[in-house]
Amino acid sequence: MSRPAERNSRVMRFASQAFVRSLCALGFSLIFGVLVSPVAAATRPPNIVIILADDLGYGDLGCYGHPTIRTPNLDRMAAEGMRFTDFYVAACVCTPSRAALLTGRLPIRSGMAGTEKRRVIFTKDPGGLPLEEITIARALQSKAYATMCIGKWHLDGGTGKSLPTRHGFDSYFGLRWSNDMEPAERNPPGAPRSLDQDPKWWNCALLRGEKIIEQPADLSTLTKRYTAEAVQFIRANKKKPFFLYFAHTYPHVPLFASEKFKGTSRRGLFGDVVEELDWSVGQVLEALRKEKLAENTLVFFTSDNGPWLVEELAGGSAGLLKEGKGSTWEGGLREPAIAWWPGKIKPGVTTHELACSLDLFSTSLTLAGAPLPTDRVLDGVDLSPILFGNGKGLRDTVFYYRGDELFALRKGPWKAHFTTANGYGSPGNPLKFEPHDPPLLFQLDTDPSERFDMAKEHPEVLADIQREVAKHRANLTPGKPQY
Ligand code: MG
Repeated sequence: MSRPAERNSRVMRFASQAFVRSLCALGFSLIFGVLVSPVAAATRPPNIVIILADDLGYGDLGCYGHPTIRTPNLDRMAAEGMRFTDFYVAACVCTPSRAALLTGRLPIRSGMAGTEKRRVIFTKDPGGLPLEEITIARALQSKAYATMCIGKWHLDGGTGKSLPTRHGFDSYFGLRWSNDMEPAERNPPGAPRSLDQDPKWWNCALLRGEKIIEQPADLSTLTKRYTAEAVQFIRANKKKPFFLYFAHTYPHVPLFASEKFKGTSRRGLFGDVVEELDWSVGQVLEALRKEKLAENTLVFFTSDNGPWLVEELAGGSAGLLKEGKGSTWEGGLREPAIAWWPGKIKPGVTTHELACSLDLFSTSLTLAGAPLPTDRVLDGVDLSPILFGNGKGLRDTVFYYRGDELFALRKGPWKAHFTTANGYGSPGNPLKFEPHDPPLLFQLDTDPSERFDMAKEHPEVLADIQREVAKHRANLTPGKPQY
């Protein structure tokens, strides 16, 4: 057969198979649809959308007090939903924070905690998120959810064995690592810190599934293209439950915004980039409204860690919190967080309950009707009592790891630091580790900026926190380090 004829025959074969499949589907719908649909609709589990910014600080949104960054969409999301004041991530840098969010387990258990020397996974590391780990995507896939990951992954070292498609995501569109991890040969030293970026300094690969579809990726249109993918995914899956993990590349440096946003914010390029993210959130929520899915979808917005302060004007702000990314002071792990589900979450609520990105695993599985794994330790709790206002939050502790070391622990309003350090060294402010015996003790409700040590006044609180640490250590089996 000639090549065109062979191709035509293949096309015909495919078309006829597709026709038969459609007829079967139509027949099935006609026979069972009328009876089954109402029941299915009533019992259909909710869609779950997690939107994660990268290196966005506690003070970088309008609804968290930033004076010049305009975030009308996130502000509206908070006004229609719930805003958390005491929401934490499980690590102060990208890789372990993401591993924790997706698995509900402290990264030390999965081997994804890193060390002081190697804090995030790099492009030539042999490891990655172990396949034995169960992600939200894998658990929900088993409940017939459509699953998609858009954006930054950062849980695979470059072998491709731990990409999103290996971890329960039907589809993937995004960058494998941070946008400063694939420099072009012409990249000048110190380029990430520069606000005036030349796109030619970067050679990031954009993937669809497991294939590179563009390199160097156009970094200035990433947010726009991620958003179009998200809206398309929502539209394409409106008839079945779906899980969308939308992990933005920004405002991690180097910063790029699309033409429409560039040069528009009073906060400069950082503001342009955050305002474009805000636009993106608005597009996602609007797509859910348009498709009449809003009342059956939980959307949760947060960031993976605090602002990268050593990036100067290209980094964000932790507001009144101390330090930022890389540090176990509050600015490193306490994040803006907004939950939205019209009709289910009461609008305009600000909660002071303790909550953590680790909790999104148990919450998502419970909402989806998926059983929680019983063969492993989970570190998250179900957020439902907080979200739906029918009880107290189930969490009373937060563990602050830096790499594989526990630096601090919060119990209720009290936080004890066993060791402190700044996030990163910078000229004039070198990296400095300080062990504390007795630990420093802060009452975060009255002193959110961690300025007044209360250890002497409250030895009983310190003793109680030390008992929590002992309990935690007794129940801890570290996983094999992956990088
Ligand atoms: Mg980050």
